[in-house]
Amino acid sequence: MPIASVNPATGETLETFEPLDAAGLEQRLARAEEAFRAYRTTSFAHRAGLLRRAADLLDEDRETVARTMTEEMGKPLAAARAEAAKCAKAMRWYAENAEALLADEHPLPADVADAGAARAYVRYRPLGVVLAVMPWNFPFWQVVRFAAPALMAGNVGLLKHASNVPRTAVALEELFRRAGFPEGCFQTLLIGSGAVEGVVRDRRVAAVTLTGSEPAGRAVAAAAADEVKKAVLELGGSDPYVVLPSADLDAAVATAVTARAQNNGQSCIAAKRFIVHAAVYDRFTEAFTVRMRALRVGDPMDEATEVGPLASRQGREDIAELVEDARKHGAGVECGGRRPEGLDAGWFYEPTVLTGITPQMRIHQEETFGPVATVYRVADLDEAVALANDTPFGLSSNVWTEDPAEQDRFVRDIQAGGVFFNGMTASHPALPFGGVKRSGFGRELSGHGIREFCNVTTVWIA
Ligand code: NDP
Repeated sequence: MPIASVNPATGETLETFEPLDAAGLEQRLARAEEAFRAYRTTSFAHRAGLLRRAADLLDEDRETVARTMTEEMGKPLAAARAEAAKCAKAMRWYAENAEALLADEHPLPADVADAGAARAYVRYRPLGVVLAVMPWNFPFWQVVRFAAPALMAGNVGLLKHASNVPRTAVALEELFRRAGFPEGCFQTLLIGSGAVEGVVRDRRVAAVTLTGSEPAGRAVAAAAADEVKKAVLELGGSDPYVVLPSADLDAAVATAVTARAQNNGQSCIAAKRFIVHAAVYDRFTEAFTVRMRALRVGDPMDEATEVGPLASRQGREDIAELVEDARKHGAGVECGGRRPEGLDAGWFYEPTVLTGITPQMRIHQEETFGPVATVYRVADLDEAVALANDTPFGLSSNVWTEDPAEQDRFVRDIQAGGVFFNGMTASHPALPFGGVKRSGFGRELSGHGIREFCNVTTVWIA
């Protein structure tokens, strides 16, 4: 894939970029190693000052940054602004909390004495140069949620961003540089995916984190495993959205639309499979379909637009194929299921609701990365839990019920990295984020995220 900025609302190529040559890549790797040598010894207060400055700059630049994102990957402008604001907030959160999250741990004196030590403690030290392979769907947020904790922990970052968001990738490097981070602390590598393995294997790279598809995750984690390097993977999701009879149905419907259509349907934590109890199935499906059909699809720069184009032509083809396969096998198309009329230039797809899903349809097992919802009818709680878990993925989940026993049942049995009751899944700096099964391993955000790329060092003193 060429490294190019292409407006998905028009198909127009805005700018193409030359990938780094071998010498350029070598220079950046050397710079990262050099930067880590000094940066690892800086204080939390110093790092926090730099990160707060980056947050301030990002707030000042919000409009420009948002327009860059929207132009490159098509999310509605208001959502792009919200993404930039969320990044600044996360930077401040880690600036504020990293020191406490990484404070030395002191085991009980009696336990330490038992281990033959007069004194012992645990220190979280940085690992080194961490490579981040990132996707285009939240082109600022995915990177910042890696970079903010990594930089606060004393690591330095290398970013291999998706090839369709190079302007955003360059803007991120500039942001950290302008904030005052020393040269080499955060660098963008304009390279194609074919060059990633060599970087993972480079002796100067200590660890890697990847957010993206399963094939990309498998390739990167395999190289990391071969080099015995730490990897964190945040891959796809096919999150269930379970609606049970005690739910506030109006709220469940309104949130379902947002949870499915956010980011033009291209979010790993979007609700994708709507699993609805028979007692409320008809009312839910009807109201949900009405609202999905009413979503305004169009130019993402237009403030009135709710759903923009898919980020790439391939992305739209993938979605259209999944819908066609379901239709062929007998699914009901309640709304959508085609390209919208009058929007021929860009990669648009109508918000779509499918019913009558059966296991032989691809969409039953695969991730839908676009504004397409599948709705299932279930007879009881057991069936809802079983269907929620009938997926290779295990990122997050959403359950609408006022019944504490039903909530407990999901907390106990759901095969996912999160369960959100009476609301939709969202990431927050204070809460861990990540999945199980084919959704990956490791966690981002919170104390769990910042400790992923630390050397958890035991200090034992006789
Ligand atoms: P990819 O997984 O292909 O891209 C994500 C990142 O990984 C990009 O930086 C990409 O670089 C890189 N990459 C891709 N293949 C490799 C590889 N073999 N070795 C090293 N790095 C690699 O996502 P796509 O954009 O192709 O989207 C395809 C599907 O992935 C979506 O339909 C969705 O299901 C899933 N996805 C999930 C996301 C999430 O948030 N969990 C985000 C994006 C996609 P390059 O761009 O140069 O190929």
